[in-house]
Amino acid sequence: MRSVRASDFVVLNADSARFECTFGRGCDGVCCKDSRAAILAGDIRRIDSAFPEILPLLRTEARKLIERDGYLSRRKKSGHPMLRIVDRWCVFFNSGCVLHKMGHAKGNKFAHKPFACAVFPLHGPGDGTFYVRQKGYDGEDWDLFCLAPTAQTPLASDTLREEFALASRMRV
Ligand code: SF4
Ligand code: SF4
Repeated sequence: MRSVRASDFVVLNADSARFECTFGRGCDGVCCKDSRAAILAGDIRRIDSAFPEILPLLRTEARKLIERDGYLSRRKKSGHPMLRIVDRWCVFFNSGCVLHKMGHAKGNKFAHKPFACAVFPLHGPGDGTFYVRQKGYDGEDWDLFCLAPTAQTPLASDTLREEFALASRMRV
């Protein structure tokens, strides 16, 4: 199987993976519902760098929870703390990702977004490689509609160029 390589950056299923995000065009952002992103040290720095601006933009119940307990859950994923959710949605969700919207308004949509969210549905299992999450690939078990593309869905290597570039620059 051919894969995308840029220096040692590898996306294993880049030749076949298909993906299109339809946020605002039929999708309300359901990937942020009941999902708790794993947070890296660099993510905390990027979120905290804009924290006073972010807080007033959150849902009231999310802001109250964060003010009381912080935005990190005690739960861990692969050894990393996870974002809290409130009323089933990520604390940073308010008609879309507040972190994404804040970065976008400043000219860099990735500026404050956790790495795992910014490159989604790219996923790095930790061995230096990445793959695009897809139904039927590597036991994908998230029943999320956009992870089940059709033959008409564009190739992820075209629609995820910015995410591929970010993952290549920031891979951990
Ligand atoms: S990644 Fe999927 S679930 Fe998330 S906003 Fe885009 S289309 Fe919706
Ligand atoms: S940080 Fe943003 S993109 Fe990530 S789960 Fe929360 S609302 Fe969604």
